[in-house]
Amino acid sequence: MTVHFPFENTYAALPASFFARVAPTPVVSPRLIKLNRPLAIQLGLDPDRLSSPEGAEILAGKRIPDGADPIAMAYAGHQFGHFVPQLGDGRAILLGEVIDADGSRRDIQLKGSGPTPFSRRGDGRAALGPVLREYIVSEAMAALGIPTTRSLAAVMTGESVLREAPLPGAVLTRIASSHIRVGTFQYFAARGDTEGVRRLADHVIGRHYPQAANADRPYHALLEGVIARQADLIARWLLVGFIHGVMNTDNTSISGETIDYGPCAFMDQYDPAKVFSSIDEQGRYAYANQPRIALWNLTRLAECLLPLFCDEQDKAIEEAQSLLGNFAESFNASYQAGLRTKLGLFTTRDGDVALAQDLLEAMAKSRADFTLTFRRLSDAALDQARDRSVRQLFADPAVYDEWSVRWRQRIGEEPQGPVVRQTAMKSVNPAFIPRNHRVEAVIEAAVNRDDFAPFEELLTVLSRPYEDQPAYAGYADPPEPHQRVLQTFCGT
Ligand code: AMP
Ligand code: MG
Repeated sequence: MTVHFPFENTYAALPASFFARVAPTPVVSPRLIKLNRPLAIQLGLDPDRLSSPEGAEILAGKRIPDGADPIAMAYAGHQFGHFVPQLGDGRAILLGEVIDADGSRRDIQLKGSGPTPFSRRGDGRAALGPVLREYIVSEAMAALGIPTTRSLAAVMTGESVLREAPLPGAVLTRIASSHIRVGTFQYFAARGDTEGVRRLADHVIGRHYPQAANADRPYHALLEGVIARQADLIARWLLVGFIHGVMNTDNTSISGETIDYGPCAFMDQYDPAKVFSSIDEQGRYAYANQPRIALWNLTRLAECLLPLFCDEQDKAIEEAQSLLGNFAESFNASYQAGLRTKLGLFTTRDGDVALAQDLLEAMAKSRADFTLTFRRLSDAALDQARDRSVRQLFADPAVYDEWSVRWRQRIGEEPQGPVVRQTAMKSVNPAFIPRNHRVEAVIEAAVNRDDFAPFEELLTVLSRPYEDQPAYAGYADPPEPHQRVLQTFCGT
């Protein structure tokens, strides 16, 4: 019995300049750590066969399934503002695409599966810690309802990878609606290959923005679509306290999914200037900078598309600028609507944004925990006595007391009752996020003690982030001062 993947590989059918054909490098002894069974089923794959020894060999890159056409995708990118004309999949290999149960095309990619022509000085491998981090955080994002790549499986390779020290090696199977990035467009644009840009744009329209094909100006509609999805995505990040950490253009997905979980983290105490990544010394990718950076990245995309807009460059630039001008409005609409629902508001009034901003400012000054503040506020909507549990999150509880008077007055102007409001608030204010200290503890247990029970338990809790789970209440707690994780490190 073989594992059957119903592959359909459209990217590998694009011109040869788009990728390098390369097979994964076999590893010594694949061991399946985790298979995402519901996701496997959604992709039309048989989870039992995938967890067989043959399945583990496939997921580790030791065996190539029938119908796969393994490639490393070419892309470029601005990394921390500096342009690198050739990056590409240096440690990832796209096995192929499948059509999922909803009829959507999904990439199946192995990450950490060995060197490719794009590896530069890297070894093409991934260590277990970053693989587990990506697995946990991407699945948590999916459960939170935020567009993201998914994790189908994690396998250990039985080999060591050399970082500062030898670490156990692993491969993540990543699922994405595609792995096309802003950097993919930049790759062709930087070579002056307008036909390449056009081929890519046509592929992307067919795959991600089919309505653009019928627009008067399809390439303009494509840019408009990417801008709208990125604006909404970044708003959603902010609304859950997520910091991506490496918002380079090669880590900005054209489909609008969160991609490339490296030194990402959710913040505990609210701080707009928060940075976790050890390599982000200037705070370029700080929490509150993320909308600005997304717009910067989209501007790089727009530059690539200019030759498709019109022959007159000045006119093309003007048109691109006008579309980029929609970003702020699009972002603000998503972000402000999100804030209103977080506060339990069903209607829109003047002063709502200020009300939300004042709470955030008070939280920042008082170092209040972002997730807990909103979660507990949901209960305070039901019962004013629960204000106690919110105010104690503030270093200066009096600022919450003052604010809550205004908030109660505002929600009192709406017809919805407390139970309806509490339920609505709890469906947008999660109890459980992948707190950094928990993620680190999971990685420590797995890497140092070969103990994957904490990993499994954390995944279980994070799969239902909006439900109170009394048995796992401790997972909602912020870190104690000695548990605080101050820095996260890149996935490499
Ligand atoms: P990232 O920071 O993970 O987005 O990666 C940036 C670039 O470095 C991409 O082109 C990756 O493929 C490449 N890269 C990262 N780690 C490795 C590695 N261990 N071996 C080869 N290439 C890598
Ligand atoms: Mg990347």
